[in-house]
Amino acid sequence: MTSRYVGLIFGAGASAAEGAPVIKNFLQKAFEFFPPDFGRDTIDDLTNDIWNFLIEYYNKPLRTSQEVAENIPALDEVFTNIDYAISNNLSLTPFYNPERLSIVKKSLISLICKTLTKTISSSNSYQTLLNGVLRSRTISPIFISLNYDCILDKCLSDCNKLNYGFISPRTFPILIKLHGSLNWSYCSLCERIDIHNEDDYPFDTRYELKCSLCGNSFTQPVLITPTLFKNYDIPPLKQLWSLSLNLLSTVDKVVFIGYSLPENDVAVIQLIKRAFAIKGKMPEIMVVDKNNDVFRRYIKIFGGQIAGIDYGFSPECARFILDWLKQKPK
Ligand SMILES: [Zn+2]
Repeated sequence: MTSRYVGLIFGAGASAAEGAPVIKNFLQKAFEFFPPDFGRDTIDDLTNDIWNFLIEYYNKPLRTSQEVAENIPALDEVFTNIDYAISNNLSLTPFYNPERLSIVKKSLISLICKTLTKTISSSNSYQTLLNGVLRSRTISPIFISLNYDCILDKCLSDCNKLNYGFISPRTFPILIKLHGSLNWSYCSLCERIDIHNEDDYPFDTRYELKCSLCGNSFTQPVLITPTLFKNYDIPPLKQLWSLSLNLLSTVDKVVFIGYSLPENDVAVIQLIKRAFAIKGKMPEIMVVDKNNDVFRRYIKIFGGQIAGIDYGFSPECARFILDWLKQKPK
């Protein structure tokens, strides 16, 4: 029996089911776990650095997580401000010039990584879905994640099935992380992405990070931040984008889990629509999201018939998704 290719695309809502904060409340949650400690030296402390910047730029006190929720825009808007200034060579205040803002950006990336690592408390929904998908002989899964966290990676690696597509682009299951990953670092000398273990994530950028191949310190975390000005100029990541275009053009069913097609993800939306255009036919689509507006957005972007599950990602929902994926397409 030949198996059919199916796509499973995960957004922030999927990881929220396992405890991760979403963009809207991210900074508030981050403050609860990593508040500033201004008794310490702010130059060396990435956590103090980012809170200091937000206090100065938005000119508001940040003493509680409630104040963060009320006084500071959401994470994507903060990133967009920083990225716009950096890419246009502008200062945001007398102190925060483009060079200094590049450090602020690193501090913010570090805070995101620390917060995700701290808040994710389970993997039940992912695990249930994965167990069923891997056991099925009729479907070959293409997992695409827009998340930085490593919940799915860990579930796959526990089954010895983790393949990020760098080395074996045609071995299934495959997990493509279009926005990078907490456990990746990129070396701009060898143009290679290093994979790190859980106890060695590369986001604490105070320290120089050496590439495991060339030994040089030209490495950086691989995280495409949630901003209007996304920059995808990391060669191995570009290859993954082409690979997912290619793979998504082969699927006859695709399920979107907790992904709201945000406007600042225009590159992702175009990629998916291009893949369907190559195929010449829309695959059957299922959308899993609690929010009805998200469902309506899918109809706007893709048109046609779209199946929906209007409760969040859960083990029960995972079983429902699995049944749907295994049914032959109409
Ligand atoms: Zn290197």
